[in-house]
Amino acid sequence: MKYISTRSGAPDLAFDDVLLAGLARDGGLYVPESWPQFSANDIRDMQGLSYQEIAIRIMLPFLGGTIPEADFAEIVNDAYAQFDHPAIAPIKQLSDDMWLAELFHGPTLAFKDYPLQVVGRLFDYVLKKRGERVTIVGATSGDTGSAAIEACRDREAIEIFILHPKGRVSDVQRRQMTTVLSGNVHNIALDGTFDDCQDMVKAMFGDESFRDAHNLSAVNSINWARIMAQIVYYFWTAVELGAPDQKFVYAVPTGNFGNVYAGYAAKQMGLPIEKFIVGSNENDILTRFFETGTMSMKPVVPTLSPSMDIQISSNFERLLFDQYDRDGKAVAKALEEFRESQSIEFGQGRWRAMQQDFEGFRVSNDETKAAIRSVYEATGELLDPHSVIGVIAGQQYEVASGVRKIALATAHPAKFPAAVEEASGVHPALPSPLADLFEREERFDELPNNLDQMRDFIAGKLAERKAA
Ligand SMILES: *Cc1c(COP(=O)(O)O)cnc(C)c1O
Repeated sequence: MKYISTRSGAPDLAFDDVLLAGLARDGGLYVPESWPQFSANDIRDMQGLSYQEIAIRIMLPFLGGTIPEADFAEIVNDAYAQFDHPAIAPIKQLSDDMWLAELFHGPTLAFKDYPLQVVGRLFDYVLKKRGERVTIVGATSGDTGSAAIEACRDREAIEIFILHPKGRVSDVQRRQMTTVLSGNVHNIALDGTFDDCQDMVKAMFGDESFRDAHNLSAVNSINWARIMAQIVYYFWTAVELGAPDQKFVYAVPTGNFGNVYAGYAAKQMGLPIEKFIVGSNENDILTRFFETGTMSMKPVVPTLSPSMDIQISSNFERLLFDQYDRDGKAVAKALEEFRESQSIEFGQGRWRAMQQDFEGFRVSNDETKAAIRSVYEATGELLDPHSVIGVIAGQQYEVASGVRKIALATAHPAKFPAAVEEASGVHPALPSPLADLFEREERFDELPNNLDQMRDFIAGKLAERKAA
């Protein structure tokens, strides 16, 4: 199995190299050169298997022999060992034709744990085999940093530095990061905004000598291995609910398009999925595109679902690559035009083709709050402001009788207690593994918004760690 860049200007790579590379050298994203196929019988054979067993079957073809099956099975089993539900991703019925898949039973209570717990271990495995180490550097507005930290904690070949804007993340969010006391985890509260944090990270990656001296790396949402590990729960949920003998529609609260793109991949691999309902908040670039055929940038506005507050959905490029018949030069040209004019049409034919697979729904802040309340009253399920967008979008979509709708719940309500309580009148309690979060010891360093001091701090910490 080879991987090719969506811009056709970077070398083809094997799985282990794609894992460590992240972005392709030409600025493109890596995708597999072909989709592994699972027949109706292959899918029927998965009935009764555990989440982990399905995970191994689905992901193995993507590794292309770069990791022995027994080693990979160990990685997968270890990744999901401390999830707080035996089903890993339990499914609840919400109405006659709608189910909810709970993807918030990992250590940080959000779906990003499902891929990242695997990806952190894969990094460690491949790096150790090569005798290499990396320094992961990232910025967080609060929500995604903890999933990366939990994925990398205690991994021997990884040091991780996560920058968050001082005083601008919620107490739960900060504590989920700063109470991880592992020696290889370094939290930095930067005196500045989230944009300052992001600029700082970009500047460090832009400094070639610093980047090479410390082997800087990232585990961001364009990494192919994250997509791969997300394909698993589409198969798991569909098999649990009757695939291959049922048809499905998935409703997915969407930001960077990584989660829903993994569903598209599952469909290319043989899963009987009729449609993907793309839920967006007021940052609705995708919904506007699916409605009108024009993709146009707008400034980001803050909403109740911050993990979906995006200007451009980076993983959309992977879908475009297929729409341009895998002509990377044409993709690069289209994206160049988009960057220059902030607006683009990809042509009627491609737009219509994408409408076959995707439909967008926009949900405002007021609708989000009203929906948290109404779903709670109707079903007793307390949903977070991201998950509820998928549910509402899914409810609005009409299916033929017999088609089953599955909404993906991407975060536990206790991650967003203020919004949930305001909407429903119910305070969502932290589940038991995190119940003592507010009693735990915190550790982090505060730094000014200054690149020299940041570089010195990181270099100093790394030297300390080497000496220890
Ligand atoms: C990241 C995130 C999303 C958006 O997922 P994408 O893969 O970026 O589309 C939705 N909900 C929550 C809770 C998230 O953390």
